[in-house]
Amino acid sequence: MTFPPFLQYLKRFGPEAGLFLAYVIAGRIGLSFHPIDGFAPVVWPAAGIALAVLVLYGYRLWPAVFLAAFAVYLSVGAGFLVSFGIALGETLQCLAGAYFLQRYVDFNPAIARLRDNVALVAVAVVAPLISSALGVASLWSGGDITAGEVGTAFSVWWVGSIFGILILAPLLFKWLSRPLFQRTPLQYLELGIVVVLTFVTSIFIFWMPQGPVNLDYYIFIPLTWAALRTGPRGIALAIFVAASVAISSTFDGHSLYLYQGLLYLQIYIGTLSGLFLIFTAIVEDRKQAQVLLKQHVGELEHSLHKVSSEDEAKKDFLAILAHELRNPLATILSSVELLRLQEVHAPDTTQLLQTIDEHVKSMTVMLDDLLDVSRISRNKLTLRKEMLSLDSLMDRSVRAAQTFIRNRGHTLSVVKPEHELYLEADPIRIEQILVNLLNNAAKYTEPNGSIQLSARKEGDLAVIRVRDSGIGIPKNMLKRIFEPFFQVQRGRLSTDGLGIGLPLTHQLVEMHGGSIEATSDGAGRGSEFVVRLPLPAHMPPPAAIPKLRAGRAPRHVKDARSILVVDDNEVAAQALGRLLELRGHTIDIAYNGLEAVDKARQSRPHIIILDIGLPDIDGYEVARRLQEEKNFPSVLIALTGYGQPQDKERALSMGFRLYLTKPVGLKEIEAAFRKVAHAPERQAP
Ligand code: ADP
Repeated sequence: MTFPPFLQYLKRFGPEAGLFLAYVIAGRIGLSFHPIDGFAPVVWPAAGIALAVLVLYGYRLWPAVFLAAFAVYLSVGAGFLVSFGIALGETLQCLAGAYFLQRYVDFNPAIARLRDNVALVAVAVVAPLISSALGVASLWSGGDITAGEVGTAFSVWWVGSIFGILILAPLLFKWLSRPLFQRTPLQYLELGIVVVLTFVTSIFIFWMPQGPVNLDYYIFIPLTWAALRTGPRGIALAIFVAASVAISSTFDGHSLYLYQGLLYLQIYIGTLSGLFLIFTAIVEDRKQAQVLLKQHVGELEHSLHKVSSEDEAKKDFLAILAHELRNPLATILSSVELLRLQEVHAPDTTQLLQTIDEHVKSMTVMLDDLLDVSRISRNKLTLRKEMLSLDSLMDRSVRAAQTFIRNRGHTLSVVKPEHELYLEADPIRIEQILVNLLNNAAKYTEPNGSIQLSARKEGDLAVIRVRDSGIGIPKNMLKRIFEPFFQVQRGRLSTDGLGIGLPLTHQLVEMHGGSIEATSDGAGRGSEFVVRLPLPAHMPPPAAIPKLRAGRAPRHVKDARSILVVDDNEVAAQALGRLLELRGHTIDIAYNGLEAVDKARQSRPHIIILDIGLPDIDGYEVARRLQEEKNFPSVLIALTGYGQPQDKERALSMGFRLYLTKPVGLKEIEAAFRKVAHAPERQAP
């Protein structure tokens, strides 16, 4: 867009022109208030305007200040050189002030921060020394004042400029800087009321004849209100109003202060202004800090919420994952056992089955651990405490871990407590703790190492130690190995773990009120894990201590039955037993007919799966002897290698409920279970 030359000039020099005009008007007003000898201003608002405009719109506007000051002094009759000197002083003062603020204070014209306000007060006090010094020197050298008047003129000029800056500059800064003033209608109303109240109070203080009671300090009421409620802009406006009323009162001699001197009035208002600016800044700082704090607290809460809901989701995911993976694994395990049942004897197959079996089992253990970890983290794991003998717990743990220990060629020594110790604990979990430590000892020790499990009483604690001669643990990791998923040598071949065994162990120990600690003399020098468990305060009589339940509790206990498997083929018997165990049943095995009769009479199982061809007495005979007892409670299932129909008939006629032919398949077993499940419940013996 092109402007006509005149407008272009206006656009180019508009700000200069505006500043010039404002300065001239403010200067003329200033000089109308009883200047000393006509020239030394007692009130000098122009200084505030010039400083604010230079800071807001740039130093380049300085010529406007110079020309305006020059023009004002010429217009009131000062000499050319005197006016020049005064204008120079005025210009230098605001340039120096603006430079200081921008260069050293990183001044923000919104002056909401304490540092901006303190810096502004400092500039208001120091910068006018320049203008008053140059101004008074010019007046003196021009012969306008005598040497005796220099001191008074200087201090009057100085205070007048301080006052001008303190009253006008904040007002302009605050009302001209962005963001522009924006409030709700109610806040505007409040601002209006505060300003009016300041005005009225000022009228009372400065215009009314003073009675015996000094009202000066009433001005604090509206000013404090403004400072607390209306922010920096409100207080700047209120102070400007108070100052205007105070100064204007001296026009026609209303004010008490006229008698005490305009100077004192300015000192009074200037001090008020400085104090309230700083006070407001502190209030604003606090308000902003509160807003920031609120914002940060909000953000924190939000993040926390996000983190914890993500955490919850992860825990749920883990639980579901572990649970879902267990089912196919159980099926694989069953299938392996079934394949064994097929009695396929190719050596390769047997070896392969063994490998599959081992790996699936270790995966199952990992998944079980994972499930436990997620149960603990969701507070869903409860302990079933019983009074237990530590000896038998150690035995069971050793039994569970010894295959792995032996496979790695380690020697294991066990040192039991001198006197039998009892714990009030969950046997499954204590076994889990010990097996975990023993397995780790075997896993993290090069083959053919040595492992020691020992326990003893120390005070009122049972202290169990698992020592190995293995790879050891670096000192700085001794604590970290108990953190979830932490592994010292991640990716090491022999570590087929997830890094959750120790955290789980740690949590299980803590749930028992105990502690666990790892020590190691460093790499290659073995490790020791020490578990401390509290001993019960009162020992029950030995008879009250129940026998331990067998092994880890089966997981699928729906429709669980007690089953006696009878077969002289050990591999087949154990495979079938294991298969049924996997389905959650309780299993006992007999390898010949007489043993079968004994065991059946003793334990009276729900079901007996009976091989017909047995070395001593055959299956029929076993059935006959059992049925000598009227209403013998067990359901009999025949399992034979001979598939002749007459055998089947014979078996059924002899009281077998079902008849299975070897090799049995998964389907037959399932079908048999279903049929047995619907069989009438055995009567109580
Ligand atoms: P995982 O064995 O599945 O990696 P754990 O939580 O059982 O997880 O163990 C965490 C880590 O602690 C292991 O990866 C191993 O680095 C270290 N660690 C545990 N037991 C021993 C030990 N007996 N000797 C040396 N390091 C061990």
